[in-house]
Amino acid sequence: MAIDTVIAADYEVVIGLEVHSQLLTKSKMFCSCSTDYAYAAPNTHVCPTCMGMPGVLPVINQQAIAYTIMTALALNCEIPQYSKFDRKNYPYPDLMKGYQISQYDIPLSKNGYLTIDHNGQIKRIGITRVHLEEDTARLLHHYGYSLVDINRSGTPLMEIVSEPDLRSPEEARLYMQKLREILVYLGVSSGRMEEGSLRCDANISIRPIGQQDLGVKTEIKNMNSFRSVERALAYEAQRQIELLRTGQAIHQETRGWVEARGVTVSQRSKEYAHDYRYFPEPDLPPLLISSDWVEELRAHLPELPDVRRARYVDEYGLSAQDANVLTEDKALGDYFEQVLAVSQTSDLKDRAKAVANLVLNDVARLLKSNSISVSENPLSPSASANLLDLLEKERITGKQAKEVLEEAFASGKMPDVIVKEKGIEPPISDQSALERIVEEVITSNSKAANDYRAGKTNALQALIGQVMKQTRGQAKADSVRKILIEKLDETTTK
Ligand SMILES: [Zn+2]
Repeated sequence: MAIDTVIAADYEVVIGLEVHSQLLTKSKMFCSCSTDYAYAAPNTHVCPTCMGMPGVLPVINQQAIAYTIMTALALNCEIPQYSKFDRKNYPYPDLMKGYQISQYDIPLSKNGYLTIDHNGQIKRIGITRVHLEEDTARLLHHYGYSLVDINRSGTPLMEIVSEPDLRSPEEARLYMQKLREILVYLGVSSGRMEEGSLRCDANISIRPIGQQDLGVKTEIKNMNSFRSVERALAYEAQRQIELLRTGQAIHQETRGWVEARGVTVSQRSKEYAHDYRYFPEPDLPPLLISSDWVEELRAHLPELPDVRRARYVDEYGLSAQDANVLTEDKALGDYFEQVLAVSQTSDLKDRAKAVANLVLNDVARLLKSNSISVSENPLSPSASANLLDLLEKERITGKQAKEVLEEAFASGKMPDVIVKEKGIEPPISDQSALERIVEEVITSNSKAANDYRAGKTNALQALIGQVMKQTRGQAKADSVRKILIEKLDETTTK
């Protein structure tokens, strides 16, 4: 089914998302094992606590609590002074203790919201709660048997639950993208969906337009990209509508998204809270969160993407489009600001536009074609600023700047050093000298000149090429074009 599936006009789709994010703490949630296990051999980052041995006692990771409160504050949540951990009991091979330490009725935060921009319409999506729990181990399935890797067990896992305020698969994707941006800006999550450190489950139901009561919902799992969130929900909405249309019942169940086939399949009937036999975690004290600490965390929240976007438009005069692209990827926006910070310029807005152009076009292209991430960018902010200085002072032409940039990207040398080493001469700024060369080129290329005068505009390109060759690339292409057209027109009318 195509992603742009038309949702039937007589039904309304109701979606709520449960997003799990591993937190970027150095150690695990309840023990001192390192969370840096991504490239480690299985079962090397473990201890009796995260292996779930009897008799061990958990100790709460304060940084994980801080990250959860920061996220909750960024999502406009209330932070109650009292909170606690609970046991969620269920048997599964990847759950070492037979229960997961989570939060049930008194989460760390509640009643927040975030806004999404849907085709220019700003919509507020309610956040029910942000709470903290621990991740499970991981099963590795082989042909005929499975192995368990306990490295992931006990990694701090934050859950962000939205209200059922989303009304289309597209809104769900926008919400997910916005949430990821905020988490990455806060520095609490890597935001990597493809690696499973950020995961999304969705509750979805449909109801006839105008009906107040919610329909029977299904829960969709295994969506590991923004695109699969949107596709899976579009498929599931259509499936539920078809069931109702043909007089069949929708069952409350958990369904898995099968990316390769583009379908959701039934996995198990949905559990209810009472299936988990929640009770307060007896090995941990209740959490008393002081308002002083909350205010200290609030005061140190970094600038969030919406604020940064607005600042780029107001302070730097960037277009909304450029501001969007620069802020979607925090590292790219950081780089933009670093280049601007080391630029010596009298006109901040002019320079900001030049930096944005350089970063969004040339630098982004070089990074992409070399498969390098922004954080590994070999081009230092001062190298980029230096290149823009050379351009602004007309020491090099735009064409030469592209060559110098590629060289600087490959070698790490400063652009002014490259210009010196390569013996690049300053562009010909002397108008009369350039006019003389143009006249010579017209005289010695009379066929091309006549072709142009006869209306073959392609001939102009050949003439520009000749002038550039004569000037060894030191003339500005747009000046050459202008002078050539003038001279050719003059001689036509003779
Ligand atoms: Zn451990």
